[in-house]
Amino acid sequence: MKKHYIIAAMIFLSAVLCACGKTKVDKVTSSKEVFIPRIENIKDDFIMGMDLSSIISLENSGVNFYNYEGEKDDIFKVLAQSGISHIRVRVWNDPYDDQGHGYGGGNCDIQTALKIAKRAKEYGLKMIIDFHYSDFWADPGKQMCPKSWKNFTIEEKAEALYNYTKESLELLKKEKIDIAMVQLGNETNGALAGEKVWMNIVYHLMVNGAKAIREVYPKALIAVHFANPEKEGAYLDYAKKLAYYDLDYDVFASSYYPYWHGSLENLANVLNTIADTYDKKTMIIETSYAYTAEDSDFSANTISETSAVTKNYPYSIQGQTNAICDVIDTAANRINNCLGICYWEGAWISVGTSSLAENQKLWEEYGSGWASSYAKAYDPDDAGKYYGGSAVDNQAFFTPDGHPLESLKLFELCKKGNEIPLKAESIEDSHIEIDLNENIILPEKVKAIMSDNSKQEVAVSWDDFDEQEMKSNGVKTYKLHGFADGKDAYCYVSMIEFNFLNNYSFEEDDNKTAVPTGWNLNRIKESNELYVEEKQTDSLNGNRHYHFWSKNPDSIEFELEQKVENLSAGKYKFAISIMGGDAGRQEIYAYVKLNDQIIAKKEMKISTYNNWDQGLIDAFDYNGNDELKVGIYVKCSGEGNGAWGKIDNALLNKVGE
Ligand code: CA
Repeated sequence: MKKHYIIAAMIFLSAVLCACGKTKVDKVTSSKEVFIPRIENIKDDFIMGMDLSSIISLENSGVNFYNYEGEKDDIFKVLAQSGISHIRVRVWNDPYDDQGHGYGGGNCDIQTALKIAKRAKEYGLKMIIDFHYSDFWADPGKQMCPKSWKNFTIEEKAEALYNYTKESLELLKKEKIDIAMVQLGNETNGALAGEKVWMNIVYHLMVNGAKAIREVYPKALIAVHFANPEKEGAYLDYAKKLAYYDLDYDVFASSYYPYWHGSLENLANVLNTIADTYDKKTMIIETSYAYTAEDSDFSANTISETSAVTKNYPYSIQGQTNAICDVIDTAANRINNCLGICYWEGAWISVGTSSLAENQKLWEEYGSGWASSYAKAYDPDDAGKYYGGSAVDNQAFFTPDGHPLESLKLFELCKKGNEIPLKAESIEDSHIEIDLNENIILPEKVKAIMSDNSKQEVAVSWDDFDEQEMKSNGVKTYKLHGFADGKDAYCYVSMIEFNFLNNYSFEEDDNKTAVPTGWNLNRIKESNELYVEEKQTDSLNGNRHYHFWSKNPDSIEFELEQKVENLSAGKYKFAISIMGGDAGRQEIYAYVKLNDQIIAKKEMKISTYNNWDQGLIDAFDYNGNDELKVGIYVKCSGEGNGAWGKIDNALLNKVGE
C-alpha cells in the first residue's frame, strides 16, 4: 500500500472515531480495591447502559460529581471512562401540576431527556428512550393515563400516543441524537396509559407507538419492557399477546433486581424461551444492587439491612460489583440474543445538605427526590402521600458527595478482569446451641464471604462475655460479637434447657464407636455400618452423630436407648432427631420405656439428605422409682444402595413446674 493511501485511511479512521463523540475519553485500566472477574464473550457492541434520568435535577440542586482523581468533572465523562456505552432516560408526558410545579423524580419530560441526550452525545454515548406514556412513574403497580388523554376513547388515545411519540422523537432527531433503542412503556405488566385490556394495550397503543418509532428512527430498536420474571408463565403470556396482536418490536426486555426477581438462572430460562419462540432480541434493561445498607439523604431506601429480601451478596462495594458482574455474565453467556444490561439510576445520590428539611426544599424546588408534594395533584394516594428523596442512594456508584466508587469500573474491567488478592468481605453469622448445663464454647472459625463471593473458613476472636450470667438466665438467645479477618462477626448463642441425658449428641466418643458412651444398642439385625460418626456437615449439633447404613435388604433393625438414672419424679418430655434416605419400607419411632414396657412413642421418618425429623414425646409422667429408658427404634427394608441415616440430639427435659 502506498504511503498516501495509508494517510488517507488514517484520516478516514480518525473521522469515524470522532463521530463517536466530540471528547475523547481514556478508559479505566485497573482497580486496586475491587476484585472483578473476567467475563467471557462480551462482544464489542454489548450494551453497558446506565439510567441517569434524575441527573439534571440533581445538578440543579447543587450536586457535584468527581472523577477518579478527585477533581470535579462531568459525570457523563466519568461514566464513559468506566465503560458505560448507553444512557437511558425515562420520559413522562407532562410531569407538572397546573402551576408548573414538577412532580419530582427528575421531572423527566422530553425536554429533560433532550438535555441528557446532548450531554451524552459529547462523549459518544448512545441513548435508550424509555417512554412511560404517563405523567409520572409507571411500573407493575400503576400505569396511569396522562392527564391530557384522560377522557379519550381508545382510538383517540392511540392517535395521541402516536403523535406524542413522533413529535418527541423528532425533537431529538433535530439535535442529531443517536438513539439505539426506544421503549414502548415501562414495566407494562398488563397495563399501559390507564388501559388494562391487552387489545387496547398492544393493538391500539403499542402498535401505534412502534409505527411512530419506525418512521422517525428506522434504525433504532423497539423494546417492550416487563418486570417480575419470577412469576411463572407471566412473560410467555405477555409475549404471546404481543405476537397475537402482531406488534412490530425487536427486543423483549426485563427488569432484574437480584433481591426481588428470583434467580438469574430462572431469568435466563424465561428469556431464552421467548428469544427462541418468537425470534426476538433480549435485554436486562434495569438492574441494581446496594453498596451499603446506610441511607444518606434522610429519605428511606427501598433496600436496607432491615428490608425482607433474599441477600446473596453483602451490601458492600465488592458485593455490588459481584452482583452486577453476575448479571452481566448471565446476559453475555446464558441468555440468547441478549444485547446487554442497563443499571438503574446509578447516580441518584443525596442532594447533600445536612438535614431532611433542607433536602426537602431542594427536592421540592428541582424535582430531585423520587416525588415532590406537587405530585398529589396527579397521584394523591402514593406519591402525594409518601413523597421524598432518593430511595436508591445506597445503590448508586457514587459516594454521597459525588465521588465514583471503585465498583463503577466493573463495566470496563470485566472485559479483561481485575484480579487482586482475595480478602474477607463479610462474615456469615454463626448459630450455636449450648445446654444450660454445659460450658459455653464458641466456634474458633467462621465462614467469610470473600471478594469473589466464594466462602472460606477464617479464624475468629470473640469479645468477652459473661458465661455465668448466660447460664443462670435460663433459655435465652444471646448475640455475641467478635472479629474475623478485620470484619465484624456475630454468634447467636441459644442457651437451651437442662438435658438429663448423657452424651446427648454423641460428642464424647471417637469416630466409629459402635456403642456410644452412656447408651445401649440392641442390634436386632446385622447392619453393615452402625456407629458414632465424626462429620460436622452430617450432624444436627456438634461434630458427631450416630450413623447407620446397610447395603443388603432388610438388614437394618436396631434400638438405641439410654437408661436414665437418679431422675426425680415429675413430668418430662423426650425428643430425638433423625435424617436419612433410601429407606424402603420403614418403621422408626422415638420411645419411652418404663420397666422395659413402651409407654409412649412417636413415629418418625427419613426422607432425603439433611431433612431432619424430630420425634417428640411432649409429656409423660415419671414416678421416680421405675426403670426409665428413652430411645429410638429403626427398621428399614432399604432400596437402591440400601438405607442410611443419622441420629442426633437426644433431649430429655423437664416440663413446666
Ligand atoms: Ca435515601
